[in-house]
Amino acid sequence: MGRYLGGVCRQCRREGMKLFLKGDRCNMSKCAVEQGRAAPGMHGMRRSKASDYAQQFREKQRLRRMYGMQDGQFRVFFEKAARHKGVTGDILLQMLEMRLDNLAFRLGYAASRRAARQFVLHEHVNVNGRKATIPSMILKKGDVIEVRDRPASRSLAKRTLDANEGKDVKPWLTLDRAGFRGEVIRIPSRDEIAPIVNEQLVVELCSK
Ligand code: SF4
Repeated sequence: MGRYLGGVCRQCRREGMKLFLKGDRCNMSKCAVEQGRAAPGMHGMRRSKASDYAQQFREKQRLRRMYGMQDGQFRVFFEKAARHKGVTGDILLQMLEMRLDNLAFRLGYAASRRAARQFVLHEHVNVNGRKATIPSMILKKGDVIEVRDRPASRSLAKRTLDANEGKDVKPWLTLDRAGFRGEVIRIPSRDEIAPIVNEQLVVELCSK
């Protein structure tokens, strides 16, 4: 599967908002969006009134970039969400939140979703006692995500866990820091996820 190899902050500049793709740097004044840097490219400064389609497209791009997904993979996620009973936008958000790389990030094993994806790919994580290396794997209530009991894995995670000491994990997760063990205790609601994008516009675009 292809992956995005361009500049990370460039994606936020394109979307005109902070997507929090770089961990700690995103909360510093060095952030390109904080500095008011324009969208990349020759026409980055140009702001014309966006059509309905353009607004839907931008929201979709924001959501998929936040979770570090390519277009094709995002489309597969959307189609799976649309097949479930219920509000498609809510289900899509819940599926994105339950991705293994996102959960590794939420638990504090890595500083950003992007770093968490690498963390999973480099075999640092067990799910329910077994090695898991697929970042897009969707977990469910009761699943346990542990950092593997290897010095390299634990020291990497410890660095980020220590940096996040004192911060609570999301209320749908529990974390035993000393044991490097996290658990999904329930599926979060849409309001708990509190997306910074309008997922309804994403649904409208992807349903066409
Ligand atoms: Fe986006 Fe973070 Fe870069 Fe700011 S520092 S532009 S939020 S990735």
